[in-house]
Amino acid sequence: MNRLCIHTITTKPWTTEQCIERYSKAGVGGITFWRYNLDGRSPSTVGQQARDAGLQIVSLCRGGFFPGKTAAERQTSIDDNKLCIDQAQALGAPLIVLVCGAVPGQPLSESRKQITEGIAAVQAHAEAAGVRLAIEPLHPMYADDRSAVNTMRQAHEICDALGSPASVGIAADVYHIWWDPELKAMIDLAGEKGRLHAYHICDWKTPTTDLLNDRGLMGEGCINIPEITQWVDGTGFAGLREVEIFSHKYWAMDQDEWLASIINAYKRL
Ligand code: ZN
Repeated sequence: MNRLCIHTITTKPWTTEQCIERYSKAGVGGITFWRYNLDGRSPSTVGQQARDAGLQIVSLCRGGFFPGKTAAERQTSIDDNKLCIDQAQALGAPLIVLVCGAVPGQPLSESRKQITEGIAAVQAHAEAAGVRLAIEPLHPMYADDRSAVNTMRQAHEICDALGSPASVGIAADVYHIWWDPELKAMIDLAGEKGRLHAYHICDWKTPTTDLLNDRGLMGEGCINIPEITQWVDGTGFAGLREVEIFSHKYWAMDQDEWLASIINAYKRL
């Protein structure tokens, strides 16, 4: 349970305070906050509440969305990412997950170039704040408008283009990358390069009825999570396993029962 972290969006009906209280009571080791958790609150107060409850703050979700059609749009995004870094620092979150962005109709290669430039523009700010950045490759079904980074290899290429700074790495989310024939090699490479910054788990349901909000609980889908977890840990990764499930079905449940199901599924892994 020490290595179990839950993303607050997994229990979206709960307030920030309820997430902290219920996760802590259930013996969950860590918490990843989403930015909406900070609305109307002081990030440093939220961070203190979580630490007082015995929770390790794993990351803040999410920054990114760097591509834009105009320079002004891209600058707005850079400014927002700097704000996100400031929030993470105040919260005491050592890492920000980047959903990198894409613009429908714009070539993916151009979006990846803008993503690289966007990360380069905020990297010094992140380093000064002591906050690391993790590029999260997203499943190709999101390549139109959510991320032009769709494989671990593409994430590595961006890290390489940035000169492999220690502050920029990769968030490996099984939902997005389980199908990749290069997955083990790319996880191994991330370990060698010191780039494996985060590990997210959930499952892929058949059929998936909603492209965004029908993720499965670990064990109910087709992802071989134990095998991928073994590969991840085989690199020396000792971080938390972060449960991140967007699901209209599970958000409609009693959230205490849902949390108990998550913990049971995690223990069975
Ligand atoms: Zn994720």
